[in-house]
Amino acid sequence: MISTSLATVAYLGATILFILCLGGLSNQETSRRGNAYGMLGMAIAVLATVFGTQVTSAGLPWILGAMAVGAVVGVYAARVVQMTQMPELVALMHSLVGLAAVLVGYANFVDPAVAAMLTPAENTIHEIEMYVGVLIGAVTFSGSLVAFGKLSGKIGGKPLLLPARHWINLVGLIVVVYFGVRFVTAHDASMATTAMIVMTVIALLFGIHMVMAIGGADMPVVVSMLNSYSGWAAAATGFMLNNDLLIVVGALVGSSGAILSYIMCTAMNRRFLAVIAGGFGSDGGAPKPAAAGGAQPAGEVTPISATETAELLKDAKSVVIVPGYGMAVAQAQHTVFEITKALRERGVNVRFAIHPVAGRMPGHMNVLLAEAKVPYDIVFEMDEINDDFPDTDVAMVIGANDIVNPAAQDDPTSPIAGMPVLEVWKAKNSIVMKRSMASGYAGVDNPLFYKENNRMLFGDAKKMLDEVLAALKA
Ligand code: NDP
Repeated sequence: MISTSLATVAYLGATILFILCLGGLSNQETSRRGNAYGMLGMAIAVLATVFGTQVTSAGLPWILGAMAVGAVVGVYAARVVQMTQMPELVALMHSLVGLAAVLVGYANFVDPAVAAMLTPAENTIHEIEMYVGVLIGAVTFSGSLVAFGKLSGKIGGKPLLLPARHWINLVGLIVVVYFGVRFVTAHDASMATTAMIVMTVIALLFGIHMVMAIGGADMPVVVSMLNSYSGWAAAATGFMLNNDLLIVVGALVGSSGAILSYIMCTAMNRRFLAVIAGGFGSDGGAPKPAAAGGAQPAGEVTPISATETAELLKDAKSVVIVPGYGMAVAQAQHTVFEITKALRERGVNVRFAIHPVAGRMPGHMNVLLAEAKVPYDIVFEMDEINDDFPDTDVAMVIGANDIVNPAAQDDPTSPIAGMPVLEVWKAKNSIVMKRSMASGYAGVDNPLFYKENNRMLFGDAKKMLDEVLAALKA
């Protein structure tokens, strides 16, 4: 067992490492180092906690046993989960943080030893910590489970818009506050138990309702928001367990998740509160008559072959590649880079355009391109490159759909109206690589496919790109 002062020093070191980790993760070049800091910080935090003064020698085998089970499950998940399943996995992990806060809250609640050690004033504070901790934990738990269902396609992406849903939420909030007061002022155990159970049920239902009400294209905001909630749930657990490190780390995750949610909202031109309150689209969530489509696009679709695509690319001076979720599904990033190299060798200026919500998690495309070793200096954010499309010969869209949908700008009735998109149709030619005419995550038709200067290269992105590469090298 280590002394309290050594544990405090270890916690301080771990906190600094976590801050360095977050700083590192904000940039692709430093993200590997950031991850290393995070892992080291977590190892120190776990060791200092397990061998700290709060753990008795009788409890140690239980903790080590639980860690062994957790490690087996974690290693297994890390090996079998595909890159495309990462968003669901992250949502599931958020739900576990929420569940932990609920369980710790209830464990504190039923343990008479905790209250016996506290003065009346401290006890009141501890009761508020328990109530709020379970509340945040239960919302995070059920909300994240629904997010998992939606991201994995087990639950449909359409928003569930109950009539008077804002009133339902408001009544729920009032009941939670009422029982919170009863919980803290309760003189008998049965009142406190009733208050705790009623609040937990309402919080679970609220989490389900909140995420069910959020539709297709607004999901990125929910994912980052639940990330933030999981941080606050961890901080609440820290308060209940009197663990300073957990409070600090929870606050770091909570606030960075909140900043990410804000960035996502700005990127999608959404109001944060409208999304949280169940807003699909910028009008705060009114259901659309053609909820899955807006106006039907008109015109003819012109297919293109892989060989013709290669010819167009060879003749181009400037090419912008727009990767989307389909590139991740097809695992086509390595071939994309091979094509990039082949074109650059021919003197073609090749750049990548990354939409902030491309794929299924923040930074999804950046991770894939980094994995394929695409140089960072040819990867551009939407704002940096959107004005360059009129001077681009070929915009090559690989498995992307919603993020290149002109309806976001042209059709005010579209569910994605107002969302900034990559304006690929302004290039001399655009080529969209996907398997069919199916819509993307938001379930919206895409008029880009019918534009005169657009060509469709139908097929699995990896297979098609292999053919394009072969034709380029022929
Ligand atoms: P989309 O989901 O809009 O479109 C992806 C397209 O890829 C589909 O239309 C599909 O068409 C095609 N595709 C799928 N598999 C393959 C394959 N093997 N080969 C070729 N094409 C394939 O993706 P975008 O990246 O354009 O947009 C992201 C969407 O996801 C946005 O609506 C965003 O809001 C949402 N979202 C984003 C999150 C984030 O954090 N980034 C989180 C949650 C949701 P087809 O079936 O015809 O092949």
